[in-house]
Amino acid sequence: MGLLALSAALCAQTPEGVKVIDGGAQMNAATWECTAGHQVQKHRVTLDSGVVRYTFLASGCQDPSHEGKHPCAEGNFGMPDPVSANWYWGGFFRVLVNGADATVCDIKDLRVTEHDNRGAFQIVWAHPDAEVGLRLMVLPGGNHVLALLVWHPREGKTVTSVRVQLTCYPSFFTAARNRKGERHCRTPRIDDTEPNTLTLEPEQDTYLYYYDAIFDVANGEGDGPCAALLSPKAVAGGKVAIGNYAVQTEIDLKPEAGEARLAFYDFTGLKNAEAENYLTAHADEDLVELDDADFRPQAVRELDYDRLKTEALKLLADAAEDGKAMEPQVQALLAKVADLKTKAEGGDWLAEADLASSLIDSEDLFWKLRTFAVLNNP
Ligand SMILES: [Zn+2]
Repeated sequence: MGLLALSAALCAQTPEGVKVIDGGAQMNAATWECTAGHQVQKHRVTLDSGVVRYTFLASGCQDPSHEGKHPCAEGNFGMPDPVSANWYWGGFFRVLVNGADATVCDIKDLRVTEHDNRGAFQIVWAHPDAEVGLRLMVLPGGNHVLALLVWHPREGKTVTSVRVQLTCYPSFFTAARNRKGERHCRTPRIDDTEPNTLTLEPEQDTYLYYYDAIFDVANGEGDGPCAALLSPKAVAGGKVAIGNYAVQTEIDLKPEAGEARLAFYDFTGLKNAEAENYLTAHADEDLVELDDADFRPQAVRELDYDRLKTEALKLLADAAEDGKAMEPQVQALLAKVADLKTKAEGGDWLAEADLASSLIDSEDLFWKLRTFAVLNNP
């Protein structure tokens, strides 16, 4: 390959959008995760904004002895990239519905819902009292991950409490490496330090900035800090237990809200002062972006069913005899789209993701139909 061709190829590999990598479900023998001899499933998904590469890891033991639960010693939902510290790689996120953790339940769905223009995936857990879904999304050039959490009570069940538990090790695994740090949690209202428990004021504590004053990149120590953004609408209260090792955050959500919005930042490589300046300057606009975000896949957001149907029927007519042959396929597609659309509007994320892929898959059919329409109308 000549130099010019090589540089063209390199340019082609750096698109503006978000790169998404779905590692698929992998099974391996348990070591630290559970009892020896058990099989553990792991599924990684990476969302790379071009600025930060975030990887999420869903882990759970599949041994039938756990009777439908999927324990994993360090937690079930982790964030191994950009670093193993900060939002904990093994498990940083739990959601307790009526006191029981949803992330240890069966994974009903885990799939990428968008790539290129934005990067997103969804995970749906089959909690006995509610269907619990989490969508995580990264925007091109974004430094954080937007999160939408939903819970739909099952028929005959009532959700009386929803609590999110977050685990981070700001900047460095201090105690594990026999080092002493100085953990802090700062909100727009207060800066608290270890060992302490900070009680959240939902309307004011819209971001939680976790840093370590000793393990600061400015001192040549640690990876850099991390943060969470909380949309206050669904937050009833909470607290941050600032330990000298892990920092544990509990967020109590209003069960009747049905959904909550959060965002996660990993400021790896940034000095504490740089991360703090970022939050002071941009947390408010990031909160507006979070509240306004439409987490539906692009094809679903852009769907105008009536227009799609009108266009399909006109193309069928224009395609004349060729159209007759394709009519059953087109009618089946329209019926499928209508059905999935109704289910998606009812809050069914599996149907919504199926709808998005049906619309994308139908592009070939429409292309063929348009070609016949043109050929029959010279
Ligand atoms: Zn096990």
